[in-house]
Amino acid sequence: MTYLFDAPSITALAVKNTDLLYPVHRIYCVGRNYAAHAREMGHDPDREPPFFFQKNPDTIVPSGGEFPYPDNSDNVHFEMELVVALGRGGVDIPVDQAHDHVFGYAAGLDMTRRDLQGAAKKMGRPWEVGKAFEYSAPCGEINPASQIGHPTSGRLWIEVNGEIRQDSNIDQLIWDVPETISYLSGLFTLKQGDLIYTGTPAGVGAIIRGDQMNGHVEGIGEISIQVV
Ligand code: MN
Repeated sequence: MTYLFDAPSITALAVKNTDLLYPVHRIYCVGRNYAAHAREMGHDPDREPPFFFQKNPDTIVPSGGEFPYPDNSDNVHFEMELVVALGRGGVDIPVDQAHDHVFGYAAGLDMTRRDLQGAAKKMGRPWEVGKAFEYSAPCGEINPASQIGHPTSGRLWIEVNGEIRQDSNIDQLIWDVPETISYLSGLFTLKQGDLIYTGTPAGVGAIIRGDQMNGHVEGIGEISIQVV
């Protein structure tokens, strides 16, 4: 048997200091995982269970690329995030074994059509139109844990046109990386190639065409994206 048409290509990310590519399977994102951001979005940051949404792997834009501003939104926000890249899958992964499933870490952006997300929230509808749209998951190259270990603290910040807009630390995560992996693996069968965007701190805001976004996670990596 042959495919009726060409099979879709695999989205892959560069692995820092290697000529290897990391093929992406799924993209999971955590909602409201920094207390100050939960508050700015009008929610109580008490430690409610983590919740998740997904983006499609073909929405990834590598660092150095462009983010075409979508026509159907007037309020597109950046959300600067630590991204976890799994190297091993599993189900019901214990918290104390979760780091063994991590291949590496990256700096990423969870681009959000805030107006469409807000309308969906109001009506109790799914978030896909606000979150899983084209070019919505820029991600920098993956820094292997074999090189950097498993950082539990480090400044996370983003500059838009050189001005700092979000400035926090990954030690402020409500659900840390092992807890997030463990919880998520109780809901889905995780696989190598899965990315987890771990949530964004306070300071999210709108971008416009022409803006230059430069995000950093200390000790892990960078993401540089031009809005066009
Ligand atoms: Mn987010």
